[in-house]
Amino acid sequence: MIFKLTGVNQGSSGTRISTRCPHCGHNGTFESIGNDIQNNNSNRVFGIRRCPNEKCFGHMFFVYDKGQKNIVVTHPSDTIPFDKENIPENVLNAFQEAILSHSNNCFIASAIMIRKTLEEICMDRNATGNNLYKRLEDLGSKIVIPQELIEGMQELRLLGNDAAHIESNTFDEIGKNEVEISIEFTKEILKAVYQYESLLGKLRSLKKTKEEENN
Ligand SMILES: [Zn+2]
Repeated sequence: MIFKLTGVNQGSSGTRISTRCPHCGHNGTFESIGNDIQNNNSNRVFGIRRCPNEKCFGHMFFVYDKGQKNIVVTHPSDTIPFDKENIPENVLNAFQEAILSHSNNCFIASAIMIRKTLEEICMDRNATGNNLYKRLEDLGSKIVIPQELIEGMQELRLLGNDAAHIESNTFDEIGKNEVEISIEFTKEILKAVYQYESLLGKLRSLKKTKEEENN
């Protein structure tokens, strides 16, 4: 949810907050709104900022550590960026929830939603089988995709399975690192299943225009 800050008085704080906007993805030094608060006995500064992009002006809370010179947390939190083009709604909804869970440090929830993303891809491409293992195998025979990506999908399936059950047995841990790698990998899968073709289409349409120009 985005809250826009328009018609507000700007503050004059000395703390520079430069980050990627969680609303519009724009990188910038955020504008001060109101006065920041600092604990007397710590280096932590708390305050409100506004995205400098005038099309956005999105609101953000932050906590900054003056000693370590880093942003401790923001709300909304930043999410891993990805290209949404051509991804069907059900697949997109599942993956977006995986990304939102990750950005809020809910790694097990994120792993479960990555597995759901795979389920939705199988359903979208009419891959059949009694369980997700079989459906992924069937998916591999139905779409043009590198074998390594299909094998990786089986790994992600196991991660999601561990996340959903108390007796974790395949992965030692489901933490930030495991989930970040899984999200990056899922982005590659989504590109291969939904985006290569449209990119190729764009390239071909360029070529056609060039040929017409040459004729
Ligand atoms: Zn913004």
